[in-house]
Amino acid sequence: MKKKINPYEICVKQFNKVADKLELEPGIREFLIKPKRQLIVSVPVEMDDGSYKVFDGYRVQHNIARGPAKGGIRYHQNVTLDEVKALATWMTWKCAVVNVPYGGAKGGITCDPTKMSAREIERLTRRYTAEISIIIGPEKDIPAPDVNTNAQTMSWIMDTYSVLKGYSVPGVVTGKPLFIGGSLGRDAATGRGVMYVVREAVKCLGLQLNDMKVVVQGFGNVGSNAALLLEEIGCKIIGICDVYGAVYNKKGIDIKKAVDFVRSTGKVVGLPDTEPIDPAEFLSLECDILVPAALEGQITKDNADKIQAKIIAEGANGPTTPEADEILFDRGIFVIPDILANAGGVSVSYFEWVQDLMAHYWTEEEVNSKLEKIMKDAFKQVYDSATAQKTSMRDAAYMLAVARVAEATRIRGIYP
Ligand code: NAD
Repeated sequence: MKKKINPYEICVKQFNKVADKLELEPGIREFLIKPKRQLIVSVPVEMDDGSYKVFDGYRVQHNIARGPAKGGIRYHQNVTLDEVKALATWMTWKCAVVNVPYGGAKGGITCDPTKMSAREIERLTRRYTAEISIIIGPEKDIPAPDVNTNAQTMSWIMDTYSVLKGYSVPGVVTGKPLFIGGSLGRDAATGRGVMYVVREAVKCLGLQLNDMKVVVQGFGNVGSNAALLLEEIGCKIIGICDVYGAVYNKKGIDIKKAVDFVRSTGKVVGLPDTEPIDPAEFLSLECDILVPAALEGQITKDNADKIQAKIIAEGANGPTTPEADEILFDRGIFVIPDILANAGGVSVSYFEWVQDLMAHYWTEEEVNSKLEKIMKDAFKQVYDSATAQKTSMRDAAYMLAVARVAEATRIRGIYP
């Protein structure tokens, strides 16, 4: 039987490699890899049929040396403490790469929301919020959406937290609807960030964007927005997929139509003017750019040698295992790592939080141009360092991030 991939083991491996390269002192090394705080909660929920179910929930704050903890909340049947620890750790590095003043956190509930009603999900969210309210807050730890959570989920969290406090606290979460203090541009921000770094990579590699063939795995918030925006700058999206199946059209898929279709049917399969293809073959489709935007552990040593893309932009967190990473590097495939490629989401979350704290809101143009600057600057720093040191973009991004968090830790010192 195939061993299940443990994201936290991957995360520690990635860190150790970079800690060696940076020759981090042993104490700092241990301090940086261990999560600061791990909260496990039982979340009792009354189901629609009157029965009670108790779900396992988690909130992990990995590191807060550079600012309050920040990270999404995931609802999925495979959520484990180790997965949440990995995602929280990646958040720390991601915030450091794009230099937003946050530490890293993540939360999750082990549940299958596709089998629950909207009211059950609301009760689950409100009780989970009450349970983790002891460690979250605008100056402590600010959740956001992740897989299977969205602006509605954030509204329930914001409302529950505000009820517990006795006043409205919009800054407790980001990714909220505009009506209650959300930011223009947040919904598409992660996909937009993916588009910006792909555009930079294409320039640096001396390629042409026009008619570049793109394959996108996962068609939720990140995948669909990345596809829409890459289409807008001239790419041709030839394959999209979701958890239910995959579709293909070598002449290009109309992504706006695909978004409408998925909104009404819930799936990509059946989209007019496409043919269904075997999801197992999906990642090895002939293309120029591959955007994994689903879950972790998708590109492994078993399929890395079959990938035909020139560029991989990791919209998802942790889609590539370290073994696969080495294969891709040896094959000369340009990988834009998750902690850089998908950092557009946390960057605009940071803008949302700043706007909430100021109670003063920006236009979408302001948000997008600030995001573009952050992504371009971070890409340049990572690319220049990767080129100078002849390393992968992932190693260069990690070196930058870990060095920043290590320095913040040294400067702050250790209490008492
Ligand atoms: P989402 O729930 O909106 O969408 C997930 C998509 O992946 C859906 O289309 C789902 O059907 C598909 N999917 C799930 N399992 C799959 C599988 N085994 N094979 C193919 N497709 C599968 O989630 P999202 O917010 O778009 O997040 C996707 C990834 O991006 C996650 O790794 C998440 O951590 C990461 N991410 C999200 C954000 C954000 O702002 N939402 C920011 C940074 C990183």
